[in-house]
Amino acid sequence: MAESVRQPQVLHYDVLVVGAGPAGLAAARAAASHGARVGLVDAQPRAGGQVWRHDVRHGVPAVAKRALAIVDGGQVEWLAQTQVTLAQPGWLLADSPGGARQLHYRTLVLATGARELLLPFPGWTLPGVTGAGGAQALAKQGWPLAGRRVVVAGSGPLLLASAATLRHHGAQVLGIHEQASRRALTGFALQLPRWPGKAVQAAALRLQLAGIGYHAGSVVVAAHGDARLREIDIDGPRGRRRIACDQLAVGYGLVPNTELAQLLGCRLERHGAHPQVAVDAQLRSSVPTVFAAGEALGIGGRDSARIEGAIAGHMAAGATAAAEALQPRRRRVRAFATQLQRSFALDARVHGLAQDDTLVCRCEDVPLRELRGFTDTRDAKLASRCGMGACQGRICGTALAELGLGDADLSTDGGRRPPLFPVRLAALADSFTDDSQGIHP
Ligand SMILES: Cc1cc2nc3c(=O)[nH]c(=O)nc-3n(C[C@H](O)[C@H](O)[C@H](O)COP(=O)(O)OP(=O)(O)OC[C@H]3O[C@@H](n4cnc5c(N)ncnc54)[C@H](O)[C@@H]3O)c2cc1C
Repeated sequence: MAESVRQPQVLHYDVLVVGAGPAGLAAARAAASHGARVGLVDAQPRAGGQVWRHDVRHGVPAVAKRALAIVDGGQVEWLAQTQVTLAQPGWLLADSPGGARQLHYRTLVLATGARELLLPFPGWTLPGVTGAGGAQALAKQGWPLAGRRVVVAGSGPLLLASAATLRHHGAQVLGIHEQASRRALTGFALQLPRWPGKAVQAAALRLQLAGIGYHAGSVVVAAHGDARLREIDIDGPRGRRRIACDQLAVGYGLVPNTELAQLLGCRLERHGAHPQVAVDAQLRSSVPTVFAAGEALGIGGRDSARIEGAIAGHMAAGATAAAEALQPRRRRVRAFATQLQRSFALDARVHGLAQDDTLVCRCEDVPLRELRGFTDTRDAKLASRCGMGACQGRICGTALAELGLGDADLSTDGGRRPPLFPVRLAALADSFTDDSQGIHP
């Protein structure tokens, strides 16, 4: 009797959407509204992405519930805990608790979002130091915070959102330290009335954070402790001071997740130090069957993500007129994103925080000293193992690009090798089938 060969689950869609944040949810809804068979994939167990991550205590806001109805309503096929790790034109391979899945599509929407920009400084690897968004995510997942003294620092509006969540979960937020200058922040506040929805959001956050100091031009320069964080040094307009705390939540904004697009051969373009997916006005990438939306196109926030998701979803289902009707709204929300980037541009001070002995690659324990002198990221990687650990350079490679010590590789073939994430050997084995249509990494 022939030996049975384990086969991956093979699924076929008209439109496949990767990422179930605001962009992906809007894309799935738009595509499904034209009768397309839509698959929606996310590595997380629940849909919602970063901003609508389910909060174990407080659930999700009403606006998220409306967007999430597409998943509960059965109009799309929802594939939770399904992480895409390999890609070929027309096919993706994903790993899930139920085994490997081959996902076949006519058109694909990449709504893979963004990650935090973490920059190394002395003490940043101490237990008790996390990203600002990372701390927020942990709090929503039930991380115990009651009574803990937390400092929130770095840059951008995410600091306010994170501080509000931490406070809701019982943390004692000692202060918010924003690297942007008072002048830049005043300029931003004066522009806000152009986007009334954003102005209301900002006012609501200020209310929730009443009594917590918001310090401009203020940068965390070092964290101190032994087995855990005990104190931090802050450099502000009035000089340096030391603050005792239990937790530091520090992040310097967001960076688009472009690795899957790169693996599919989509052209990337650089925005500042970091790549984003290059698209035309209809959000079509350089690969004609692949569209992109949301933070993967550049950091724009929740509203851009939703409108771009809808445009990409309509386009992926062939509904050009419906997509076209949304273009004026896209221009409006993207203008907000441009303003945001201008106002919260990183001060040169934050690029000079790491010292020679500061670890840059915390997966492989590589200090800055070992990376000096390299102009090519790949050479530095081969010589030091920087970027070869579990995060595959998502943190250190991004930090090096921001610090000007490495270059984000924009090439569509050599920059990123599969798999995108550490993957179970069984899932890889499943991807080799007798069927010549299978994925061959
Ligand atoms: C940690 C963090 C916290 C944030 N908190 C807030 C906040 O409180 N308020 C706010 O206004 N904005 C917040 N943001 C900004 C937020 O990114 C955007 O406003 C909004 O969520 C962007 O929507 P999106 O759909 O483009 O991406 P996201 O919401 O990031 O969704 C992308 C989704 O793609 C999935 N994904 C990516 N790659 C793969 C893959 N290979 N396989 C399967 N799934 C994949 C991810 O799991 C994720 O769920 C936060 C960002 C981060 C990084």
